[in-house]
Amino acid sequence: MSLLNLLPHRISQRLTALYFTVSSLSLQRRPRSTQTNAMATMTVTKIPALKDNFMYLVMCNETRQAAVVDPVEPDRVLEVVQEQSCKLNKLLTTHHHWDHAGGNDALYQRFRQNPEWGELLVYGGDDDRITRLTNPVKQDDTFEIGNLRVRCFSTPCHTKSHICYYVESDQERAVFTGDTLFLAGCGRFFEGTPDQMYDALIGKLSSLPDDTQVYCGHEYALQNLRFGNTIEPDNEDIRVMLERAQAADLEGRRALVPSTIGLEKRINVFMRVREPLFATLYASNDPIKIMEQLRSAKDKF
Ligand SMILES: [Zn+2]
Repeated sequence: MSLLNLLPHRISQRLTALYFTVSSLSLQRRPRSTQTNAMATMTVTKIPALKDNFMYLVMCNETRQAAVVDPVEPDRVLEVVQEQSCKLNKLLTTHHHWDHAGGNDALYQRFRQNPEWGELLVYGGDDDRITRLTNPVKQDDTFEIGNLRVRCFSTPCHTKSHICYYVESDQERAVFTGDTLFLAGCGRFFEGTPDQMYDALIGKLSSLPDDTQVYCGHEYALQNLRFGNTIEPDNEDIRVMLERAQAADLEGRRALVPSTIGLEKRINVFMRVREPLFATLYASNDPIKIMEQLRSAKDKF
């Protein structure tokens, strides 16, 4: 992807689109089934897309109002909307990359063709690379999905305008982290610096309640846990999750998302850079330097 960053935006978007089309064709035998987590107040459906992306449909149970996160395959999303007879009227974009925002225009066009569906509001960071953006958001902006409250976290680093969406009711909490926080890992620093990722992971996401469910943009759990296990071979939580990830992979399932903030603090080395062990490992008391070195080690892993 680093070469793509050097190309003019439009060309790089096309190349990325081509890459994902080709890789999704070669992986059509991967499981495509959705997984629905019905809680008391909210229902989150994980919808696999492309090679290893996740789209999420988030519904308020009381009002059946719904939002979709990163609908790169909009027709698949609309099938699930119909199955669940919910009312979709919000699109939440985590960042502009094609495999996340590449379905925005097509979903917008479906709404135009079906005026009885009402208006589709498109949320995302303020960035003209996000197609059909109607509601640009910044840190601490809030809105609702029915009776669920949404708070935006600005997490620049993977991209300059990356947003994570924290959704809560009085009983339940979930955060949609795009390519900022992955299960046991984090996104590459394409447009930002280690201190920005530190602020995102430690300053912002770590401060959420431990029982907040984490829904990330991709399933990279197995590779991330293998990496974490090389950094912290004595971390029992990482070892146990690695075994679970290996079993899930053998069964052809992608079953480990969602994680929780509490679990990430135990298994995600990028969330753990302030642990004393890391200061010893990297001979540094600067958690931002440690973040930088961890990321470059992971890039070569
Ligand atoms: Zn991305």
